[in-house]
Amino acid sequence: MYIILNMTTKRYLPPSALHPFLDSLPDTVSKRNLGKSVNALPIQLLTVGEGSCKILMWSQMHGNESTTTRALLDFIPWFLSTSQKQHQNTFTLSIILQLNPDGANAYTRLNAAGVDLNRDAINLTQPESQILHSVYNEIKPDYCLNLHGQRTLFSAGKMGKTASLSFLAPSADPERSVTPSRKKAMQLIVAIKRQLEQELPGQIGRYDDAFNPNCVGDRFIQLGTPTILFEAGHVPNDYQREKTRKYLFKCFKTLLNSISSNNFDHTTKEYFEIPENAKDFVDIIISGVTIEVKGSIYLNQEVAIQYREQPKGGEVQFIPVMEEYGLKLPLNAHKRLVFPKNKIEKTLLFEKGKTIQNEDFYSFCSI
Ligand SMILES: [Zn+2]
Repeated sequence: MYIILNMTTKRYLPPSALHPFLDSLPDTVSKRNLGKSVNALPIQLLTVGEGSCKILMWSQMHGNESTTTRALLDFIPWFLSTSQKQHQNTFTLSIILQLNPDGANAYTRLNAAGVDLNRDAINLTQPESQILHSVYNEIKPDYCLNLHGQRTLFSAGKMGKTASLSFLAPSADPERSVTPSRKKAMQLIVAIKRQLEQELPGQIGRYDDAFNPNCVGDRFIQLGTPTILFEAGHVPNDYQREKTRKYLFKCFKTLLNSISSNNFDHTTKEYFEIPENAKDFVDIIISGVTIEVKGSIYLNQEVAIQYREQPKGGEVQFIPVMEEYGLKLPLNAHKRLVFPKNKIEKTLLFEKGKTIQNEDFYSFCSI
């Protein structure tokens, strides 16, 4: 096994950060330029393994969702190691680490033309979408993995548990029928859930399955390929998502093991029992805060804070933004803080959707 040269651990993952990893890959890995992004950055396909079962996976279709890419930086060396000969003989993995390199550079969800590539699967207006579809048509994969990241506001069901991982077997039609391809995707998701649920009790969610053929997963499953949407979510106090990255690595391993052992026994009922994502989390709730809203003072309030992610100096900064206030907020929080009594005379000027300006409060709720 060769040594992993790149252990990048940052949420901000521009294309240049992948160079050491790409340079470290052995000659057995095929690298092919598929074309260019809107801003003329290359989009590269890595191919590993020599098996007949073909899996196409792409990450950072949304440029600011880097956790799955970093998990692939762990998964690819593992797959290439001598101990995984059997997998290498079973699978051919076609991997696009960054489908949206411009978005990865700018730390944006959208591509450089301002288009959400996961809403462009029918019209294919963008070069990145055209590249993905042409490689799909060329490879004719047996499975597709559509790799994404999820914001901290998602819970798994409504039990007050954060969604650390979420999955979707996309619908192939408006009736959300369980087609043969969709069923396979569901069964694999159940296998993954069973493998990880002890480590992530109640923290695995199921994404909304409303049919939208503009979404790539829905399109590919409609075309008959079992496709799984992965959403890398939040683990408390893990804003760089290094823990989520490790769980994703386990997901990928479980997926290969399940396919190679033909483990498709799980029922779709078990898939539907996975709690559906809800949006009821904020990053922080601070209690004991005196706030001023439009000239009125309110004592002893709870204030909900959501971080806005902003790239700066090669890092992602987490900027605290005011979301809600109230005596008792009906929200879950990843962290609850009590504003110190010795600072109680401080007043927070509350404006929904605005960054906190007051230095005492800003530093208090910084990561
Ligand atoms: Zn996404």
